Amino acid sequence: MDAMTFILFGSTGDLAKRKIFPALFNLYLEGKLPRSFSLIGLGRKPYTDAEFKTYVELSLQTFSRSRPNELLMQEFLRFFRYQDIDVTKKEGFRELLNIVLEQEKELDIPENRMFYLSVAPEFFQTIAANIKESGLATAIGWKRLIIEKPFGKDLISARELNDKLVQTFEENEIYRIDHYLGKPMVQNLETLVSDNPILKALWNNRYIANVQITAAETVGVEDRAGYYDKAGAIRDMFQNHMLQLLMMIAIHQMAHSPDIPIGTRKSHILKSLRPLSKENAALDVVRGQYEAGEIGGNAVAGYREEHGVGATSMADTFVAARLWIDDPHWSGVPFYIRTGKRMREKSTRIVVEFKDPQQHASSSRKRTTSPNLLTIQINPDEKITLQLNGKNVLKSGETKPVYMDFSQSSVHMPEAYELLIYDALRGDDTFFARWEETESAWEWVEPLLEAFEENVLPLELYPSGSYGPETSCRLLSEQGFHWWHDEQEEKEQRRLLVI
Ligand code: NAD
Repeated sequence: MDAMTFILFGSTGDLAKRKIFPALFNLYLEGKLPRSFSLIGLGRKPYTDAEFKTYVELSLQTFSRSRPNELLMQEFLRFFRYQDIDVTKKEGFRELLNIVLEQEKELDIPENRMFYLSVAPEFFQTIAANIKESGLATAIGWKRLIIEKPFGKDLISARELNDKLVQTFEENEIYRIDHYLGKPMVQNLETLVSDNPILKALWNNRYIANVQITAAETVGVEDRAGYYDKAGAIRDMFQNHMLQLLMMIAIHQMAHSPDIPIGTRKSHILKSLRPLSKENAALDVVRGQYEAGEIGGNAVAGYREEHGVGATSMADTFVAARLWIDDPHWSGVPFYIRTGKRMREKSTRIVVEFKDPQQHASSSRKRTTSPNLLTIQINPDEKITLQLNGKNVLKSGETKPVYMDFSQSSVHMPEAYELLIYDALRGDDTFFARWEETESAWEWVEPLLEAFEENVLPLELYPSGSYGPETSCRLLSEQGFHWWHDEQEEKEQRRLLVI
């Protein structure tokens, strides 16, 4: 890997402390950082280099998945430096250039520069402009930009931001982080289908009845009300993470052109999504907000009673939608997506429900078996479960569901940020959101933002600890389906039924 300088804006913030430093350290331990590696931390705090190193040490001791050994930690921190900066002022960037040049010279590092913007989004454009203006971007080696979400708050602001960024960085130099794409199970999705002929053969509208994508949290808004109350679940989860999961599960080799890159195939999915209109959004979308309720036996407050939230807030903490991909491969297969806070279970997973060909051959035949389900659990555990039907010899041979589980041990699993930062350092953008995808996602979501804003779509209240508004079940029941909730719970229910 190329030697380079890692320039981290927002190095004293929450994300750097919890994710970025531990990720870099674990890459270092695994020999995945270049031998010559210099890091320049930037932030508002007036740290000296020594204070900054102590701060990073503390972050590693608290958040690193591998136990930090003192010696290795000191070795890792050797080439860390710190500069306090106000990114809205140009002078700081000239000073930064001097430090970068000094380090490059001292450590004999070519002018390869990775800029990481772990700061509030209102600074993204200013920083990119100041990087250009100061001369930091005119390096002889490569330059890259890693940028955190949110990428805009709607289609117009996302386009404005992108127009500004591309004045300093080319599209192929911009790495837009969607940390869901860094989760090992999500990175596994394409291989799971394309390298397993059993699944590959069934991965189309002939055999798949529907696909359900869930990202449910038990936590509420916590201390993020300032941001969340304006963003809601639609911007915080749906436009980015949920649509990325949809793309990753639905990508397929296009007929007659097997070597099309993953990014193009992902964009094809979004571009094939049937558009929704603001006026008819209520037919396919449900938005909700949590009320007081119980989670794990404890009483919890409703969203409007949370600290920093107004008593009349109309922010969505739950969104469910039915989507159709109008291409020959998926035509007729509904994709159901739901995401919410203060839900009954914490789980991110994709359930693929297979068709029962016999049932379709003769609709008068009563269904006696459960559908085959492929459940891909992404969080909190990583696991793939296949639900099949087997004969229950204890109960006069009737059919009952049996399960095949494949679990990945999470102890040594790299964290999403490790995988993503490593890819960006190598110049591999496979698991980053490209502009084409980001723009198409905003385009699709835009009518929903308007429908939410203008209250064309009712805001349905749901008790904390539930599966969200009851009406989200209608999205599926109209095609004769229902949500598959936590697979363990289903298993238990079935066990009770069959014993
Ligand atoms: P934070 O508020 O904890 O940290 C902000 C950082 O920006 C600090 O280092 C601060 O010194 C610096 N900063 C603020 N104003 C500045 C200025 N004028 N000049 C220079 N530096 C300035 O924020 P965070 O939670 O670390 O989030 C950083 C980014 O990552 C945001 O874009 C956020 O949306 C995104 N993000 C964060 C998380 C998370 O878990 N924290 C998750 C996903 C995305």
